[in-house]
Amino acid sequence: MPCNEAFSERCAQVRAQYARVLEQVQTAAIRAGRHEDDVRLMAVSKTVDEPLMLAAMEAGATLFGENKVQELVRKRPQFPAETCEIHLIGHLQSNKATKAVETADLIQSVDSLKLAKELSRVCAIKHCAIDVLLEVNIGRDAAKFGFMPEELPEAAAEISQLEGIVTRGLMCVPPFCVNSSQTAKFFLNMYHLFLDNSTKKMDNRCMGTLPWDILSMGMSGDYEAAVAEGATIVRVGTAIFGSRV
Ligand SMILES: *Cc1c(COP(=O)(O)O)cnc(C)c1O
Repeated sequence: MPCNEAFSERCAQVRAQYARVLEQVQTAAIRAGRHEDDVRLMAVSKTVDEPLMLAAMEAGATLFGENKVQELVRKRPQFPAETCEIHLIGHLQSNKATKAVETADLIQSVDSLKLAKELSRVCAIKHCAIDVLLEVNIGRDAAKFGFMPEELPEAAAEISQLEGIVTRGLMCVPPFCVNSSQTAKFFLNMYHLFLDNSTKKMDNRCMGTLPWDILSMGMSGDYEAAVAEGATIVRVGTAIFGSRV
């Protein structure tokens, strides 16, 4: 670990930024009539070196997000499941499904039925289960991954029947909007999809016992808006780890 003044300043900066974002998340929750603990702050640590992740942990971080399986596999030994949770938040290719199941605590980026089936196949072989979120292409962006809103009812129902797949909720990356009320509208649409598509209603093998409890939305530029519209996880990278925030 580098041991110089500039580095310890960077660590102090990350600790301070994490604390500031957390406070804003909690304030936004209370303002929206929610409890301050209703929203979990994910520190998105893609491309971030391990010592800075440790600094975030010192400030209280218990949840990280990685977007590449390879990077997750590399970092996991230093950040075992007993110390923190790491979710995969980037597009996952089917050929990396095994590694993803082995290393991620939850896969937020399940964006196709094909991927869900592959994850299920892996879980069946390994006699394990994996928690997932379904990624929604809320902006109907042809360049983005995810289920279209109208595809969700059928996809959620089918995926909830797959062995080893525990569908915990939804995630999205809305299109960039200059106008914050447009972003808020995407978040509100997600909240309605989250309420309408609960797999609790769909899986009559274990009615009522399936957790459908995670709505993951909001990043550095819009996490307070996401909290106002019902996010239960916000995924913040730059505002925590950035050096020029
Ligand atoms: C990078 C990333 C984030 C964090 O973005 P920031 O703007 O840096 O906060 C959140 N979600 C996903 C899926 C990402 O890839």
